[in-house]
Amino acid sequence: GVAFMDGQYLPMSEAKISVLDWGFLHSDATYDTVHVWNGRFFRLNLHLDRFLGGIERLRMNLPYDREEITSILKSCVALSGHKSAYVEMICTRGSSPTFSRDPRQAENRFMAFAVPFGSVANNEQLERGLHVAISETVRIPPKSIDPSIKNYHWLDLVKGLFDAYDMGAETALILDTDGHIAEGPGFNVFIVRDGSLTTPAFGVLPGITRRTVFDLCAEIGLSVAATDVSRAEIKQADEVFVTSTAGGIMPVTRIDEAKIANGKVGPITSRLMNFYWQKHDDPAWS
Ligand code: PMP
Repeated sequence: GVAFMDGQYLPMSEAKISVLDWGFLHSDATYDTVHVWNGRFFRLNLHLDRFLGGIERLRMNLPYDREEITSILKSCVALSGHKSAYVEMICTRGSSPTFSRDPRQAENRFMAFAVPFGSVANNEQLERGLHVAISETVRIPPKSIDPSIKNYHWLDLVKGLFDAYDMGAETALILDTDGHIAEGPGFNVFIVRDGSLTTPAFGVLPGITRRTVFDLCAEIGLSVAATDVSRAEIKQADEVFVTSTAGGIMPVTRIDEAKIANGKVGPITSRLMNFYWQKHDDPAWS
């Protein structure tokens, strides 16, 4: 992979930050990840909107504008030589030359990198569906500031993952402050019931893949509601799937000890998965 830092393109192994960077010390950072498929970015503008929106709300300043960031990301991909890549852009608070604790004094840092694309779910998992456990852990900040700021805070999600492993599952879903289903480590969730979709609305990252599912559903005429999803509802669903940039649409066929419906990947999930990958060849979606 290739990284961009301090105005230079570097091999990944040389891309390093200071331990004094507030991004590292306080998770005072925002980032976004976008993927490149067969040489083309997928929904780059939506990822840039979310990234630049986060930077503005965190009151960070970048010496690069949207066009320059786009060209840096494209150069990272081109220099990496990968046709399909996972590209990350990061802005951290940085640190102050005088070690001041006033965040206004810090010099914000931008970095980016492109590494080979590897889906978080392998083919076997995509064919049989994931086994997910519901953890009692509650997803808290950065929602309290603004859920649309994509931040590295994952202590709750990592705790959820360990709970899931203890229950013999592959990954986790954690709860919102009202005890409803929120999201998982790096993904949003959807349930299908009687042909309609529902996804949690509150206290979750507004995922770009989640948004893409809304767009796909609008095209095929499926109804989607963004509203609370209870633990009972997810277990009684006809189909369940999770969504992320790094994995696309990934079916879930088992929650805790129980199968979802007959335990096979459902027809609406399959249809959306196919449609999602078809859109990668459509320049209008790049
Ligand atoms: N929720 C969380 C907490 C995430 O970290 C991510 C992806 N990094 C998502 C949801 C999915 O978002 P997207 O579809 O934009 O990748």
